[in-house]
Amino acid sequence: MTAWTRRHCLCVEVRNLDYDEAAAALKIKADWLRDHIGQLPHQKFGRNAAVFCMCDLRLIQAMQTVMPPEAAELVDGPAPKPADTPEPATSAVPAYAALRPSQGRRREPAGV
Ligand SMILES: [Zn+2]
Repeated sequence: MTAWTRRHCLCVEVRNLDYDEAAAALKIKADWLRDHIGQLPHQKFGRNAAVFCMCDLRLIQAMQTVMPPEAAELVDGPAPKPADTPEPATSAVPAYAALRPSQGRRREPAGV
């Protein structure tokens, strides 16, 4: 097993949870964590049982999230349709010939 970075971990203070505490936080059975520990982010210190920080649990939560397409669309916006052909590249800059000098502000007559 290779050590992995903990880029996902935002913990400022170490407050690890054991299997039962992690399972309680996730509202699942600890056996599920034990059965799937090889596929779950966790920390392992030698022969000690695996422990989890809340960031590990957030990642596990994301891994197990079921997102129906209708819900994903609400979150991410409409998915691009594969049949859509990309629009031809048009420049947002108007052609030089279409440019007109800007109109300066007309001065109001004094005293109005
Ligand atoms: Zn963490």
